[in-house]
Amino acid sequence: ILEDVSTPRRTKEIIARHGFKFKKSLGQNFLIDQNILGKIVAAAGLDESKGALEIGPGIGALTEKLAQEAGKVAAVEIDRRLIPILREVMEPYPQVNVIQGDVLDLDLRALFEAEFGDVSGVSVVANLPYYVTTPILMKLLEEKLPLEHIVVMIQKEVAQRMAASPGGKEYGSLSIAVQYYSKPELICMVPPTVFIPQPNVESAVIRLTVRDEPPVQVDDEAFFFEVVQSSFTQRRKTIANNLKSRFFSGEGRETLERLLAEAEIEPSRRAETLSLEEFARLSNVFLGAGL
Ligand code: SAM
Repeated sequence: ILEDVSTPRRTKEIIARHGFKFKKSLGQNFLIDQNILGKIVAAAGLDESKGALEIGPGIGALTEKLAQEAGKVAAVEIDRRLIPILREVMEPYPQVNVIQGDVLDLDLRALFEAEFGDVSGVSVVANLPYYVTTPILMKLLEEKLPLEHIVVMIQKEVAQRMAASPGGKEYGSLSIAVQYYSKPELICMVPPTVFIPQPNVESAVIRLTVRDEPPVQVDDEAFFFEVVQSSFTQRRKTIANNLKSRFFSGEGRETLERLLAEAEIEPSRRAETLSLEEFARLSNVFLGAGL
């Protein structure tokens, strides 16, 4: 009987036997802590009827736990050297399909149709490569895939920004984008000591519960995100000054002040104090005025 992949002993044995060398550029930090793995998997609320998409399985520490809970697991790994290792390690788990590829290039809708045709719901569960955390999460959310939860280990500061409420320095366009598509919750903080090799940063597990409908009514999503981005261009400036340089450079300040008044937003406020609701109102008013 084999020990779990994620025990330090078995992880080291697999790595040594295959002569595997970690690639820092691919964010390779493998989990070796049963307790943390248990928390990640529990947060996803999986059962036999559900599917899990894992991004970056490494040598399969988390994949094995997912296989024990979910009915179907698809694991996308970019590093070709890991594919034979994963195929060997996952041999006892026929419900796991290992796919070689860059998740950012994959047609995820096609993957969902091919892999998850007969499950009752799908969640993404992953210990993400930190160099591409935001692009991966934004791709998952913007493509509006039929997802229940996204439970991921990411850099602590990024997790805090995603979950931040208005009013603090962590709140910004990332908080707004994530909260437009999902409800974020911090599950736990994670020290570097639970990985080999250890990363240089603190980590956190975050759960995004994907929304069926956005929490606010936005008439044009692309324009809404443009207004949000522009409002945060210089955090220390007022919302009026940031918006003026982006949308009203040619016109007088009066139009801007009239539209802000219509959206019921004080020109002297800073973007970091505006709620999702207020940004939605503001972008709808701008759009209505033909901006
Ligand atoms: N899940 C494993 C664990 O917890 O031990 C490994 C996690 S490690 C932090 C991130 C993994 O993502 C690595 O195996 C790396 O090769 C893979 N990876 C990096 N960039 C990727 C990409 N664009 N698409 C798919 N996998 C990627």
